[in-house]
Amino acid sequence: MINVRFNSLDLVSKRQATPIKRPNEKISEYFGSHVFNDVSMREYLSEEAYLSVMSAIESGRKIDREVADQVAASMKAWAMNKGATHFTHWFQPLTGSTAEKHDSFFTPTKGGAGIENFNGDKLVQQEPDASSFPNGGIRNTFEARGYTAWDPSSPAFVMEIGSGKTLCIPTIFVSYTGEALDYKAPLLKSLHTLEKAALDVCHYFDKNVKKVTPTLGWEQEYFLVDAALYDARPDLALSGRTVFGQIGAKGQQLEDHYFGSIPERAYAYMLDLETECHKLGIPVSTRHNEVAPSQYECAPIFEDMNLAVDHNQLLMDLMDRVARRHNLRVLLHEKPYASVNGSGKHNNWSMGTDTGKNLLSPGKTPKTNLQFLAFFVNTIKAVNDNEELLRASIASAGNDHRLGANEAPPAIISIFIGSHLSKVLDAIEQKVSDKNFSEQDKLDLKMEIHNGIPDLLLDNTDRNRTSPFAFTGNKFEVRAVGSSANCAQPMTVLNTIVANQLKQFKKEVDAIIRKEGEKKDAAILRVIREYIIDSKRIIFEKDGYSIEWEKEAKKRGLSNNKTTPKALDAYVSEKSLKLFKDNNIFTEVEIEARHEILLEQYSKEVQIESRVLGELVYNYVLPTAIKYQNTLIENITGLQSAGIKGEGLKAQQDLLNKISEHINKAKKGVDEMIEERKKANKLDNERQKAAAYCDKVKPLFDTIRYSVEKLEFFVDNQEWPLPKYREMLFLR
Ligand code: ADP
Ligand code: MG
Repeated sequence: MINVRFNSLDLVSKRQATPIKRPNEKISEYFGSHVFNDVSMREYLSEEAYLSVMSAIESGRKIDREVADQVAASMKAWAMNKGATHFTHWFQPLTGSTAEKHDSFFTPTKGGAGIENFNGDKLVQQEPDASSFPNGGIRNTFEARGYTAWDPSSPAFVMEIGSGKTLCIPTIFVSYTGEALDYKAPLLKSLHTLEKAALDVCHYFDKNVKKVTPTLGWEQEYFLVDAALYDARPDLALSGRTVFGQIGAKGQQLEDHYFGSIPERAYAYMLDLETECHKLGIPVSTRHNEVAPSQYECAPIFEDMNLAVDHNQLLMDLMDRVARRHNLRVLLHEKPYASVNGSGKHNNWSMGTDTGKNLLSPGKTPKTNLQFLAFFVNTIKAVNDNEELLRASIASAGNDHRLGANEAPPAIISIFIGSHLSKVLDAIEQKVSDKNFSEQDKLDLKMEIHNGIPDLLLDNTDRNRTSPFAFTGNKFEVRAVGSSANCAQPMTVLNTIVANQLKQFKKEVDAIIRKEGEKKDAAILRVIREYIIDSKRIIFEKDGYSIEWEKEAKKRGLSNNKTTPKALDAYVSEKSLKLFKDNNIFTEVEIEARHEILLEQYSKEVQIESRVLGELVYNYVLPTAIKYQNTLIENITGLQSAGIKGEGLKAQQDLLNKISEHINKAKKGVDEMIEERKKANKLDNERQKAAAYCDKVKPLFDTIRYSVEKLEFFVDNQEWPLPKYREMLFLR
């Protein structure tokens, strides 16, 4: 009989790194060559059309029909010059991945000829008849009318797949009645709201600022595994993670992979991926090994958030495609292997002004320091008041294996700010007394902050890796986002809560100035001080993984929602509904629909894992274990007929007992799991169904897993049919 595992291992042992061809030695020669960016727009567009697109990008102004026709014609000319034959509206439905439906430029004409055609209509709006995308009941499926609408703020690009080239136009996806059916539409709304709210607050400090732009720099973690081993593990192929596997003698305990030298095949993959990214204008710049064996990370230079989100989605798509060229598969799942670290996607978040200032960068003068403090403390307050909603925004079946399990960030949202800034906040709290704010205090404070912050700039070692939300010198780093997530989801929530908070801040400061005749700076400091006092519970500087923190956080009234169904409740609380409505991000219908979709996704994912687990146990594990059980039985019978008894049979007998025990336990576990699944599937209510999958079906995974791993340990290695952890994790 052919053992697929050994076949794969044989293939793996013969693999070589795939040679890479880069278009040029210098990245600058081909960076952005496949993007209809500023340079190509200037070349291809008339002055009028160019200015119109720019104004649409900068102020959201609508592009009129005639100009749209011009833009379409130029885009087509540019794309055809690159070899594109088709175009597609590229969008981000709630499935989590990106979607595209390609249409040809080619249109037949009379007499059997044809022309390449693309106009403003096709650029601006499409009806992809995407009736099978999740919509949470918003669209009546037989009507099936959702449409995609051009988002000029993210540039079009040409995607190369093999020899095929397609012009991709970033779009939002909405229902015919205007409800958002994707991640991008609410993100754009939240950006708009935050830009406005932050600009208003900026004007306290600098009237010259005309625009604030939220920025995002993501750090993408992933695993690589050989394609043959991946194919030999149906659980990886179908659910993105291994549902069992013995960790064996060596995991990550030596920490020898982190920042270690990159294995050759992985290195070739990275070069190839980076080349594709650079052609598409994705500014990836760092690469390194991560903590777990075969785990890596790549990160770009940060960008305007809208673009950064698109680029991360595009990156995940590229990662998958490029990996196949290298006989590798990329694992974006949050927890592909138990017992070693999972993968996350840090979202570095800040805001920049058109005058070139990072609003979360501590300043050099008292005035810019106060501006920094205003944005810094408002963000802290926003997170403090909405920690549960922020937790909801990162909830997924995959991420549950990280959050609330015993590893990187806990399910409790807290903020780490470092010892210097903690001191600064303490000083403000103590010295700015509520009513009698003296000139001396003000002076003292300015000195203290003024002196404190340059220190912080020098000292970048003040870090806490266990914190889910950390201030890292000039940005906040949301560390709890899952590796496979669309960044738009947590970023929409973060933008919204901070925007809402900044509006509130402005109201309060203005009221103090108006009613009490207080000077502007003093009024700002007073409100900041109140916020510092209000937000104390969210600041936590110690070990976020510890049991003590769980207890302490509970005392502080912080939520600790360890599972997705529970965490998602915060999306539909009265408070959240009001927040989203007040800030024009989601209507009640939209948020309820989204909640439903996320619950449904959760149930489906656990269901798939459960089915795969059941199949693997019945089709692979039990037959193998039973075969080995027979070998032992034969052996024992043989020994007995040779006259051996008692102690002489003990080892075989013992092994046989253990194997029999775990065969029984594994089978029993699977049968129970199937029963629980049947019960869960009968539930109509998505919340109840998700809860059943979470609380009834999923806990059985652990029972089954335990016995299967015992069997993997006891059974003859030659017979074990599924690649083992040690084989998948140590790519060379
Ligand atoms: P780390 O130590 O976490 O790797 P880095 O300084 O390398 O920190 O930055 C990580 C990410 O943060 C990068 O993607 C970087 O572009 C991004 N980043 C830096 N400054 C900002 C900013 N102002 N806004 C958003 N992201 C930023
Ligand atoms: Mg980081």
